[in-house]
Amino acid sequence: MVDLKSQYEKIKPEIDSAINEVISSTAFINGPAVKGFQVALENYLGVKHVIPCANGTDALQISMMALGLKPGDEVIAPSFTFIATAEVIALLGLTPVLVDVEPGTFNISIDSVIKAITPRTKAIVPVHLFGQTADMDAIIETARKYKLFVIEDSCQSIGSDYQDCDGKWKKSGTIGDVGCTSFFPSKNLGCFGDGGAIFTNDDALAAKIRVIVNHGMTVRYYHDEIGVNSRLDSIQAAVLKVKLNHLDRYIHARQQLAAAYNAAFQGHSEIIVPEQFNKSTHVFHQYTLQIKGSKRNQLQEYLASKDIPAMIYYPVPIHLQKAYLDPRYKQGDFPVTEQLINTVISLPMHTEMDEEQIAYITSNVLSFFKEM
Ligand SMILES: *Cc1c(COP(=O)(O)O)cnc(C)c1O
Repeated sequence: MVDLKSQYEKIKPEIDSAINEVISSTAFINGPAVKGFQVALENYLGVKHVIPCANGTDALQISMMALGLKPGDEVIAPSFTFIATAEVIALLGLTPVLVDVEPGTFNISIDSVIKAITPRTKAIVPVHLFGQTADMDAIIETARKYKLFVIEDSCQSIGSDYQDCDGKWKKSGTIGDVGCTSFFPSKNLGCFGDGGAIFTNDDALAAKIRVIVNHGMTVRYYHDEIGVNSRLDSIQAAVLKVKLNHLDRYIHARQQLAAAYNAAFQGHSEIIVPEQFNKSTHVFHQYTLQIKGSKRNQLQEYLASKDIPAMIYYPVPIHLQKAYLDPRYKQGDFPVTEQLINTVISLPMHTEMDEEQIAYITSNVLSFFKEM
C-alpha cells in the first residue's frame, strides 16, 4: 500500500543528518528541532499556532479537553471513519452522536449533522476522509447558528486546500476552531514513529492546549488543570521538518497516480472512481474506488493473488463496532455508510509508484472484471 523505504532512500542524506544533529545535541525532548518544525508547519499552513503532540488521537482528545467539553456534552462525528475520532469522545465521557456521510466524497453529511443537533450538542468533528476537505462552509455556518465548536480531524488531509465561500484558500485543518493531524508513518506527512499536531488561530485556546499537553503545568511543578503527557520527540520533529519541504511534491505524486487510476477506470460500468469535491483539492491519502454490485471482496482476493495489496477502509462503521454498540443505533440507520463498507476498496497509493507498477495494477483490476 505504501513504499516508505524508497521514499526514505531518496532523501536519506538530509534525514540522516537531521537525526544525527538531534543525537549529538542530546536534546531529545522539546529540543530546538521541535520548535523549528512547529514554525515551519505554521508557515506552511498559514495558521497562527501549531502545537505538536504525541499522535493524532491525542491531538483530538486534547482539543476536546481544551474546548472545555464536559461529560454529557454531545459531539457529532461521522460513523464512517477511523475509530480514533469516536474513541476520544467516548474516553472523555462525552456522548458521541454518529451521523452518515455523503455517497460521493465519503465526508460528513451536513443534512445528517443538522438532524442530529440537540440542546446538548457542543461540537462537530468533520473528518476530511481520504485526503479531501469536507464542506466546511456548510459546517461552519451550522456551527455558528447553533453555537458549536468545530474540531477538524485532518489526520488524512494535511496539505489539502479548501476554497471558502469568500473565495479564500485555506489549508485543511485551519478552518474550524481547531484542527488535528497525525504524523503516523503512512500518513501523507509521516515521521519515523508516532507524532501529531494541533492547529488553531485562537491565541487563548493555543495557550490552553500548550498547558494541557504538558501535564496541565503553567509554572514548573504547579498544575492548574488536569493535563496529559503528549509530546512530539525531537528526532521525529527533525525528520518531519525535512519531509515538510517535500510535502507538496509528495502530494503532486499522489495526484498524478490518482489521475492515472482515474484514466484507467473512469466510465467503467462496474467501477465508481473517487468524486472530486469542487471546493477542495484532494491529497489522496487513499485512492478509494466503489465497486458496484457485490464483487468487491472477490476483487480484493483476486488482486491479492497477483501480489497487489488492496485494503478496505473501513469494513465496520463505528455504530456497528462491538465496543460502541448503543441502543440509540441499529443496522440500517446510516444507509450511505452501510453501503460504502460493502463497496469501497483502496488501491496502493504512495509517492514512489512507477509506470510499470501502475500499469500492472490497473490492468489486473480491469482483467478481473473481464474474467468474473
Ligand atoms: C490516523 C488517524 C487518526 C489517529 O492518528 P494516530 O496518530 O494514529 O493516533 C485519527 N483520525 C483519522 C481519520 C486517522 O486517519
